[in-house]
Amino acid sequence: MRTKEEYLKAAARFLTPNYGERDLILVRGEGCRVWDIDGNEYLDFLAGISVNNLGHCPPAVVQAIEEQIRQFMHCSNFYIIPTQVELAALLCELSFADRCFFCNSGAEANEAAIKLARLWAKKKYGPERYEIVTMRNSFHGRTIATITATGQEKVQKGFEPLVPGFVYAEFNKIESIREVISERTCAIMLEPVQGEGGVVPATKEFLQGVRRLCDEHGLLLIFDEVQCGMGRCGRLFAHQLFGVDPDIMTLAKALGNGYPIGAMLAREDVGALLTPGTHGSTFGGNPPACAAGLAVLREMATHNWPAYAEKIGTQFMEMLRQRIATLPNVKAIRGLGLMVGIELTHPGAKVVKECLKRGLIINCTMGNVLRLLPPLIVTETECEKAATIISEVLQLDEIKEAATAS
Ligand SMILES: *Cc1c(COP(=O)(O)O)cnc(C)c1O
Repeated sequence: MRTKEEYLKAAARFLTPNYGERDLILVRGEGCRVWDIDGNEYLDFLAGISVNNLGHCPPAVVQAIEEQIRQFMHCSNFYIIPTQVELAALLCELSFADRCFFCNSGAEANEAAIKLARLWAKKKYGPERYEIVTMRNSFHGRTIATITATGQEKVQKGFEPLVPGFVYAEFNKIESIREVISERTCAIMLEPVQGEGGVVPATKEFLQGVRRLCDEHGLLLIFDEVQCGMGRCGRLFAHQLFGVDPDIMTLAKALGNGYPIGAMLAREDVGALLTPGTHGSTFGGNPPACAAGLAVLREMATHNWPAYAEKIGTQFMEMLRQRIATLPNVKAIRGLGLMVGIELTHPGAKVVKECLKRGLIINCTMGNVLRLLPPLIVTETECEKAATIISEVLQLDEIKEAATAS
C-alpha cells in the first residue's frame, strides 16, 4: 500500500496521461455512496458514467460473480458456456432481438454491429453498400472504427486516416438524414439518448421517422444503448419508451454493473449472418461476465428498477427545476428517467469541482452540460441532497463571476 501522495505521484509517472488531471482516489463503494482513500464519503451521481446502475457492490451481483469465479473463470468460446446461453436467452426474451454476441466493452459491441451491418448489406445488395449514417455529437467508442462512427472531430483528430464508409447527419433532424442517404447506405446508427453529446433525448417523431426511412430504403437501424440502456431512462431499453424497435442494439456499461461485458443483439435474419469465422472475442461472454449480467437483469426485473428510475427521475428533475431553473446561468434542464443534463451558459468544470468539495460526484460533458447519472436505486433524500448542493454551487459568487466573464 502506498500513501495518497505516493499514488498520485506513481499515477502521474506510470500511467499514460489520457484521462487528464485526477486527484481523487476512490477505494470503496456501497449503494449510492463511495469513499476515498482518506475515508471521505461522496454521493455518487455519476455511477461510473452509467455503469453502476444497481449501485456499488449490489449483494446479488457480488454473490453471482463470487460463486461463478470459484467454479470456473474462463474457457474459450470453442465451448458452450451455460451462463452465456442463459444471458442470451434472457436478453432475447426481454427485447426485440433473437441473437446475441458477447464482447467486453461498448466500443467492441459497436464494432460488431458495424461489421454485421456491412456483412448483411453485402449479402443482400452487393459490395457497394457499406456506408453507415451516424449523428453529429454522437459517441460510439474509442477504437478506430468507432471514433469514425462518432460524429465529433475532437475524438478523431490525430488518428487519421479514419475508416471509410461513415457519413454524418444532424440528430433529431430527419431531413438531414434523408439528405445523406445514397445508393451506398446500409445502416443508420444512433443513440436514443445522446450521452456524451450533452444528454439529448431523441424525439419520438425523429425515431419513428428514422425507422420509416430505414424501411423505405431497406437499411438497418442500429441503436447504441451502451449509456442510455439498462433501465436508466425508465424502461429496460430506452427505445422501448418510443415504441420503435431497431434491427441491432448494442449494450455494455451497466450490463455487468461494473464487471466488463458488452453485447450486440440482433434480429434473427441479421444476427444469423455472423457465421463461423466472421467474428469472435477471447474473453467475450466468459462465465463471470455473464453471471454478472444475469444477476443484473434478474435484479432489474425483481425490483422493477426501470419503473422506479422513471418515477424518481421525474421527481429529481422537478426538484432541480424548482431550485435552479430560474438561475441566469442555467439554460436548460433535460433528460429521461435518471439520465439528466443541466445545460449551463458557461463551462461546467468548476461546478463539478465545487460539487466534489461538498461531497457530490457529477460530471460535465460538451464543456457546459452537467451530467447526472445516479444509480437507479437512489432515494428521494439523496436526490434532494444532490439538488441542494448543485443549487448552492451554481449560486456561488465565483461561479457567477466566471459565468459573466465567459
Ligand atoms: C461509453 C459509450 C461507448 C463506449 O463504451 P466503452 O465500453 O468505453 O468502449 C459507446 N457508446 C456509448 C453511447 C457510450 O456512452
